[in-house]
Amino acid sequence: MLKDGHGRVVDYLRVSVTERCNFRCQYCMPEKPFSWVPKEELLSYEDLFKFIKVCIDRGVKKVRITGGEPLLREGLDNFIEMISKYKDDIDLALTTNGYLLPKSAQKLADAGLKRINVSLDSLIPDVAHKIAQKDVLPTVLKGIEAAHSAGLKIKINCVPMQGINDNELCDLVEFCKSKGYPIRFIEFMENDHAKDGAKGYNSIQIQNILKAKYSFKKLERSGSSPSQDYIMEDGYVFGIIEPHKDDFCATCNRIRLTASGVLIPCLYFEDSQSIKEAIQNNDIDKAAAILNDVLLNKPEKNKWSENPEVSARAFYETGG
Ligand code: SAM
Ligand code: SF4
Repeated sequence: MLKDGHGRVVDYLRVSVTERCNFRCQYCMPEKPFSWVPKEELLSYEDLFKFIKVCIDRGVKKVRITGGEPLLREGLDNFIEMISKYKDDIDLALTTNGYLLPKSAQKLADAGLKRINVSLDSLIPDVAHKIAQKDVLPTVLKGIEAAHSAGLKIKINCVPMQGINDNELCDLVEFCKSKGYPIRFIEFMENDHAKDGAKGYNSIQIQNILKAKYSFKKLERSGSSPSQDYIMEDGYVFGIIEPHKDDFCATCNRIRLTASGVLIPCLYFEDSQSIKEAIQNNDIDKAAAILNDVLLNKPEKNKWSENPEVSARAFYETGG
């Protein structure tokens, strides 16, 4: 079992397979970065898999593939198959913007993927266009349908932004209810890479918007899920991810690996260590020692609750 320096069990690894993206979301990557990490500097799928095995062998139970946009990296279905075949009870999931799902959903399901989170911030084509800076909505909706037809369990992620999609939160709930998908609203996490002036909402504000139409109750937190769930009168459950809350980090069970082999203990802070050399040299003991060291130094708490602070970390690099 892996534990961090504060006694928290770490059993969830998020793996970013690319920092590149085909969207330019205002809250994440409003402009193309000055340069991408050259493809030859990324860890190969075989090397990422070697490190995933190090983690699974030491107690990791959940692996989420993310990015940038993970479906942009070729061969993702083979990578998913490697992981799902290694341990068939691993909780393997993917987070995507959905744009490439129409042609890849079935292949992902065939490779052993069970669960998928799709980002859907608006149901109005022009608003979705404004957020992603591209005409994305029709294709994303087709992608969600394709994932559903392929038998994938779907969750929807939405980042409410002031003056952009805040008048649609109830419509998004209605859409998800009608389809049977849980929705999770994510508090905007202030970071240096987001569009200047971008403003989100905290959990209380999101709840107040939803209260105009719905009555709901807070549920007991289950395990170390990052989401605080709420139940509506008709039994529909939605979640809010509340990193600005003081106690959000108390149950953090996550560690993040970037596409170039950098192991990041906290989404907020810049501290990290690379496992690239150890993994490429097949030095599994060294990779495991780096993992332990990173865990030992995992910060107790992010700083978003402090008024709010702005992180220097890019979401498209860490994978959210
Ligand atoms: N491209 C994929 C997507 O958009 O789902 C996966 C990568 S994205 C970085 C992972 C998640 O992070 C998405 O749900 C996205 O909405 C969320 N995210 C990105 N920037 C954020 C920010 N500044 N605050 C809160 N959530 C953010
Ligand atoms: Fe791309 Fe996802 Fe970031 Fe949007 S949130 S820019 S889709 S990585």
